[in-house]
Amino acid sequence: MPDIEYHSGEITRPCPKNIQLRQEGKFNPEMQTAMYRGAFASYLMEYLHGANEWDDDAVAAAGVLAIQKITDDIEKEGRELSDTVENSREDIHSEVLWCIIEYARRLGPMFKQCKFIGCELPCRVTVSVTPTGKRRPKKINFASHTDLLFRDPLNVFGQGKNRLCLWDFKFTKDSPTWDYLTRQPQLLLYFVCGLEGSFLLDDMWIEFNEAPALAWCHLPHLKPFKRRTTCTDDDGVTTEYVKGNARPLKNVVRWCNYRIDRLDDIKFELCQRPLMYEAGFYPMIPDAIGCHLCESREWCPRFDLSHLEGDSP
Ligand code: SF4
Repeated sequence: MPDIEYHSGEITRPCPKNIQLRQEGKFNPEMQTAMYRGAFASYLMEYLHGANEWDDDAVAAAGVLAIQKITDDIEKEGRELSDTVENSREDIHSEVLWCIIEYARRLGPMFKQCKFIGCELPCRVTVSVTPTGKRRPKKINFASHTDLLFRDPLNVFGQGKNRLCLWDFKFTKDSPTWDYLTRQPQLLLYFVCGLEGSFLLDDMWIEFNEAPALAWCHLPHLKPFKRRTTCTDDDGVTTEYVKGNARPLKNVVRWCNYRIDRLDDIKFELCQRPLMYEAGFYPMIPDAIGCHLCESREWCPRFDLSHLEGDSP
């Protein structure tokens, strides 16, 4: 088996130059807010789903364990927190806990009827691809972690009886559009892992060989509407919501049903970025916000403008 393994981050991060610089170890290892928030939410989910208890006391107990775990991890790995995280840890914990209490309240009773398989499970798959213009196929290895894997024997989530379900928890500010979800590389990779790859469960690599129902779980949408909004509810009825109303569940759990008959096309597309990297191409894709937040920006080539008064350095 070839040695190089492409992690999902390497096919989802928008800028290939950032991938190259990270591969060369050229990035600021400080933990930024998004990473801290994501890690805290993941630990919370792991404890909650593992216990399958969803009342407020269970969330509070999971919160204490998650804070302890993230603190231990940071110490053990010698990670630095950015000043922003250092100064706002309490706020981050409160924001995430607020959403998770809602998650437990709305989804806990449904999860009680499901069969938990695991949180933070490593997964991997090897894909064979024939690069454009070549005759011989190449093997490309992919790896990732799945946030939540479970089975739904009673079809409480409506994706089919006994369906294998795989959720990815997101705390991004912007919710994904349908046009994005239908092509989202990380979810596409999970789809291929479910069909042809394996998942590490109790130290054993297990193959499911089935198409998982995938969902982008948009945790910030567990917060209520901030203003009067008209949209369809979970039954498809046009409804006017006012400030403070909970959003429909379909806005939180965004299901993506990729088509099994597109599997070869999905695998081909997933391989395009690794093939580009292996050919030595790592183009810059500068972005107004992306570059400002980029952890590799100190090492990335720059072609300076002179500073104007009021510019940030
Ligand atoms: S600074 Fe911008 S162009 Fe450079 S690696 Fe980061 S995102 Fe890419």
